[in-house]
Amino acid sequence: MEKFKTYSIKDVGKKVEIKGWVNTVRDLGGMIFINIRNRSGIIQAVIKPENKYYELAESLKSEYVVSVKGTIREREQKNPKMKTGDIEIDVESLELINKSLDIPFQISDNTTALEDTRLKYRYLDLRRESLQSNFILRSKIMKSARDFLNNLDFIETDTPILCKSTPEGARDFLVPSRVNHGKFYALPQSPQIYKQLLMLSGFERYYQVARCFRDEDLRADRQPEFTQLDVEMSFVDEDDVMNLCENLVASIFKEVKGLDVKLPLMRMKYDDAIKDYGSDKPDLRFGMKIQDLTEIFKNTTFGVFKTVLSEGGVINALVVKNNADKYSRKDLDKLLDYIKKYGAKGLANIKIGEEITGSIATFLSEEEIKELKEKLSLENNDLVLIVSGDYNTVKTSLGALRCKLGHDLNLIDKDDYKLLWVTDFPLFEWSELEGRYLACHHPFTMPKDEDVDKLLTDKGACYSKAYDIVINGYEAGGGSIRIHDPEVQKKMFEALELTDEDIKEKFGFFVDALKYGCPPHGGFAIGLDRLTMLLAGTDNIRDVIAFPKTTSGQDLMCDAPNYVDDSQLEELKIKTTE
Ligand code: ASP
Repeated sequence: MEKFKTYSIKDVGKKVEIKGWVNTVRDLGGMIFINIRNRSGIIQAVIKPENKYYELAESLKSEYVVSVKGTIREREQKNPKMKTGDIEIDVESLELINKSLDIPFQISDNTTALEDTRLKYRYLDLRRESLQSNFILRSKIMKSARDFLNNLDFIETDTPILCKSTPEGARDFLVPSRVNHGKFYALPQSPQIYKQLLMLSGFERYYQVARCFRDEDLRADRQPEFTQLDVEMSFVDEDDVMNLCENLVASIFKEVKGLDVKLPLMRMKYDDAIKDYGSDKPDLRFGMKIQDLTEIFKNTTFGVFKTVLSEGGVINALVVKNNADKYSRKDLDKLLDYIKKYGAKGLANIKIGEEITGSIATFLSEEEIKELKEKLSLENNDLVLIVSGDYNTVKTSLGALRCKLGHDLNLIDKDDYKLLWVTDFPLFEWSELEGRYLACHHPFTMPKDEDVDKLLTDKGACYSKAYDIVINGYEAGGGSIRIHDPEVQKKMFEALELTDEDIKEKFGFFVDALKYGCPPHGGFAIGLDRLTMLLAGTDNIRDVIAFPKTTSGQDLMCDAPNYVDDSQLEELKIKTTE
């Protein structure tokens, strides 16, 4: 079979046969122009009145399936907006292959149809050129990844979809078992345990394109089911895994986008990422680091700052260069509303001009102004935005504000890609809700060698051999070196306050397995949807998933989730309460 072809001026004179959908038909004073669309794009076909297929051409409507045979010729009036705008097909014969109902929206990248309508008729939506090119890109990314890993002797395999609850910390989707009444499978949140078991089985290097399911609240860049490329390797340390992963990502960038990623990637410790960018996935396409002003204000007379400092809090700021005049009080109030979502209580500001103005100008001493100007290299028309409070709230709010300002002020070059590693994550995070420490990554993550002894005594000070690969402010992937020593694993569970019974019930089979000669191992997973989204230049993850769910987890096309027959519930011995 012939490959899909895009024709151009070089093909003038060629006899061709094109099969596809009628994108538009126009009758222009006797001549009929049909734009035929298929995966290779859109091409114009022209039928003259004397053509015996003229009447058939007149009856065509959008989305009818046709085949035309004819000769490519140069257009008299070229259309620079179309890829094939220099040429057209002089039709010799036309065949109507199939008709279509009237379509609910025009198949065009400029469609104004609501996303809900497009998702209901997703099979039509997917005919749009931009979506088709996203899926061609996705397929190229997969091919490139497979080629890269196959060349390095990785084994591709699958792991179960019906399994036991996995340890990623989100809510599970459950599947009732008909033959084991009252018992449930969980859908995998990731193949984490299986990938480690495969190392124990001696696979040494494996990868998998894994479907993962997490019953979490959804966002624009998150879906309840998603696909990731999971990789696991034996006898490796952090550098080996990160090195492989960044080479894999760089080869994907090169092959599918022709972009050179400079290796090795920059590495930033988690603590520094939070200190400077207020995020563990900093967007490095623009600067505007968070500045610490705590020291400058140590003798402040301003009540709010004074209280914060007496409670051990911090005072941090962002500097918006040369834009103070653009921010009215109302604008600044809006920024405050924005960061309130992140826990900030206030947003103080200083505007630099002939005179110093802004919400806290009157509280500043000569000395403080001088130090501020020096530390922040302030110039005329700079705006300083200040948040005070406890360390985490201040960093998170300013981190979020920084990203908002980066977008609002057009500081981001949309064609730019900034990749980095964030490393040295804390091993544990404190959960207010549960009143105990939880694993930051998952409970099989190896602590830093120097922290193994602190696992039970100083959890807040333990760091892990975990790493995330960050692209343009998104976590594109991440992984860790795993615990392979049963004693350390036992200690880790203890640190997480899991009882022996919990351990036995949740991961008993895995803990037993670790005792049968487990090699040191580690790995990572790359979010395939997210990577495709980034390379496709969209910020909507649904644009790169063929049949996605809405943000309320619904599939509008098949109308899922939905009720099931009573007989099905009866068979499963399940009663619903509503
Ligand atoms: N299981 C991790 C995840 O799905 C990835 C890994 O540690 O390899 O995020």
